[in-house]
Amino acid sequence: MYEPKSGQWIDNGQHLLLGCCTELLALHQQLGLNEFFEHKTAIPFADISGKRWSFAPSPLLPGSLRYLPALFKNPFLTFREKIQMVLLLRQLSQAVQKTDGLNKNGLNKIFASLILSALSETPENVAPEALQCIVQKLFFEGKDAAGVYIPKVPLRNIYNDAAAKKLKEKGVELNFLQRVERFNTETMDGTSSVANIQFTNGSQRSFDYYIAAVPSFRFGQLADASEMDEAFVNSLALDQFEPGAVTTVHLWFDQPLPLNGQSFFALLGGPGQFIFEEAGSPFYYTVVISASHRLLSDNELTAKGALPLVERVTEQLRRTFPQKSGGQILPANVKHYRVTTYFDAVFSPSPAVYAHRPSAATPYSNLFLAGDWIQTGFPSTMEGAVRSGLNAVEQIQTGTVTDSTRRSTTASTACR
Ligand SMILES: Cc1cc2nc3c(=O)[nH]c(=O)nc-3n(C[C@H](O)[C@H](O)[C@H](O)COP(=O)(O)OP(=O)(O)OC[C@H]3O[C@@H](n4cnc5c(N)ncnc54)[C@H](O)[C@@H]3O)c2cc1C
Repeated sequence: MYEPKSGQWIDNGQHLLLGCCTELLALHQQLGLNEFFEHKTAIPFADISGKRWSFAPSPLLPGSLRYLPALFKNPFLTFREKIQMVLLLRQLSQAVQKTDGLNKNGLNKIFASLILSALSETPENVAPEALQCIVQKLFFEGKDAAGVYIPKVPLRNIYNDAAAKKLKEKGVELNFLQRVERFNTETMDGTSSVANIQFTNGSQRSFDYYIAAVPSFRFGQLADASEMDEAFVNSLALDQFEPGAVTTVHLWFDQPLPLNGQSFFALLGGPGQFIFEEAGSPFYYTVVISASHRLLSDNELTAKGALPLVERVTEQLRRTFPQKSGGQILPANVKHYRVTTYFDAVFSPSPAVYAHRPSAATPYSNLFLAGDWIQTGFPSTMEGAVRSGLNAVEQIQTGTVTDSTRRSTTASTACR
């Protein structure tokens, strides 16, 4: 969105990609998008008491052992919690049906920001498979699994402009201005298919295949408008997909925060989970609060509560990054702020949703489903969205989804 006071385009919320997002990174490579991302091999953590920790893999150790030195150097856990954490990670690397009995103290204490941001839900409300997927990917997916890719420019420059340009060069026709209103279906010799799609301006176009890559609730609206087979629509259990909110606090300070050369930190001990130094105007930072539908008060989710939330987040930043000059603490002052909350940023990965996520196939022979809500095992993320698209294409090409083409380097029990 355009932010008039700072005179720049700002994102709806900074997006963080991890090295374990293998299909998304492969897509970036294909579309020439790598230059827009800064790559870090470790995740820097900062807590409210000023302590720092780097979740960095050891280059000398193989497999998941490469994270052991970093875990044992962690300043936020007791020795007992570190041991419990290692045991828990072992358990989560195997198929577990329930996570309620597991001791998650250590995990919640240090990986809360990562888990909340990947799932946009608090750990007690997520399906065991969702939590397992994150842990398996982070610790067991390869040596850059916990590497981080941070966009250096606004997302619209990457995904709207640069990606669109590359796709057009590859002969893809993009049409951003037309919305699909309905699928016109037909049944011949007992086989149902989509005859054409109708746009909101009344025009129609027909194709060999159709992939509906829209959010779950939008597909529900399209299915209703298209009078689709009731049994099929009911089987999608669309009402199980509860939205999860992400709030971003945009802050313009009067001086830089002392991030010591880092462009982002995972935060511990306050409402904010990640801070990013942003481009576009001086001393502009964003603080992301995932699962804000659970973690913020109703007031804080509305414009009325924006200022108290900004004060809470600023206090967290002042304590986490104290600014000292000649023994004096010089707090940075907020010159301008904006709070954005996306109430349906993601879907909440609840056990009910994980029991019902649909596959790409539909009863219409040439219609397939994609989008982050389709069954990929991944929570609501860009990696999940990319995988769903690959699944839909594989379903078209081979009539089934095997996941054999995916770039996972480990056999994962939860993420498929
Ligand atoms: C604030 C925020 C922060 C996030 N942070 C992260 C993060 O750090 N890392 C991460 O991996 N993910 C993050 N996500 C989640 C990520 O953005 C989504 O999981 C991903 O974009 C989903 O992709 P999708 O293609 O399934 O759906 P969408 O991106 O929602 O795309 C659906 C598209 O369908 C179009 N559409 C809808 N209806 C119609 C119609 N009738 N006709 C034609 N087109 C239609 C929409 O305009 C839209 O372009 C975040 C999301 C938000 C909102």
